[in-house]
Amino acid sequence: MRIADRFIKTPASEMIRIFQATEKMDGVLNLGIGEPDFDTEHDIIDAAAAAGKNGFTHYPPTQGYLDVRRAVCDYWKRRHALESTPDEVVLTTGGLQSSYLAMQALLNPGDAVILIEPYFTQYISQVELCGAGLLRVETKEENGFAPLASDLEKIITPSAKILILNSPCNPTGRVISRERMEEIAAIAEKYDLFVLSDEIYESMVHKGKHVSFATIPGMRERTLTMSGMSKSHCMTGWRVGYSIGPVELIKVMTVISATQTFGLNTMAQKASAYALDNHDAKLIERRDIFADRMNYVSGRLNKMKNITCAEAEGAFYLFPNIKKTGLTSKDFVWKMLEESRVATLPGTAFGNSGEGYIRISCTRSMDVLIQSMDKMELFCEKL
Ligand code: PLP
Repeated sequence: MRIADRFIKTPASEMIRIFQATEKMDGVLNLGIGEPDFDTEHDIIDAAAAAGKNGFTHYPPTQGYLDVRRAVCDYWKRRHALESTPDEVVLTTGGLQSSYLAMQALLNPGDAVILIEPYFTQYISQVELCGAGLLRVETKEENGFAPLASDLEKIITPSAKILILNSPCNPTGRVISRERMEEIAAIAEKYDLFVLSDEIYESMVHKGKHVSFATIPGMRERTLTMSGMSKSHCMTGWRVGYSIGPVELIKVMTVISATQTFGLNTMAQKASAYALDNHDAKLIERRDIFADRMNYVSGRLNKMKNITCAEAEGAFYLFPNIKKTGLTSKDFVWKMLEESRVATLPGTAFGNSGEGYIRISCTRSMDVLIQSMDKMELFCEKL
């Protein structure tokens, strides 16, 4: 047996190495986890069971049930003024399959994808599997880790075809403002870029307001809005994602997904429609819980020796600056894990712009966060 060449050199990521080390150690307080700590609400699980009992146990339409796609449209119109119709929606196996399908549908070998650092790591291999190149844009903390038009213009080449946006951002927890989005939109227009807008953390913006990129004038026809149920509705294990975008692209994504999964789990689909229609109040409740946790943690971080942390904006991530400790991100994270049993992730796991930062996920109870901050404070004091 010989593994295909393109998979031979896949090294274990720093993130995986840290998670593996964490599992082998006792008593680790793990602030590395990127999923909500809340279980799926029981009425959503009941909706899945009811769908099964009502006969939704057969192959679904590969694009997704019409009523579920309609629930996606209603949700985005109600919450973010994004107008769409069900033929502009495809359901996918997690948000991850949305970006994978979109890249497969859009990229030829030799095309290039603009990726804003720090970025969600999984995009990298999705781009590489298309034989496409990466154009990385470094960003700065003082600009909220959002690119300026000039940063983008510096790296754009004639091969650039797609720009990936992610606001609120994993790993920085920062939210791109409307003004900055308008600047990015002007660049997309000028260089004829198609935008994959990953808005999976849209329900968790506590400073300012989430702006859905496709609602910026002129952007609807050049944007695929990607999201899913994982973070907003605490349904990571259900693997439900979706994309909203131009029909021509949605059709190709549907054809590709039919060769892979032949549609999305029927009961998970129906439960998602129920959740999208009925859980807006819960979204606000959880957004506020995450906001309280993030404000607490950033407050504590800013009192620690040699650490600073920008105010929390969205998602459930903080990206504190550790540069004054003199350690690299990687050394800081490993040392704190080994000596204080607090697990975080190095900023460099998300691209070079992450050097000098660590990612903290506020996806643990306040109790755990308090204990972790006590330990981290002592750790920084002793450095
Ligand atoms: N996009 C971002 C920015 C993420 O952080 C994640 C998960 O961590 C995903 C997409 C994929 O989520 P899922 O495949 O669970 O929908």
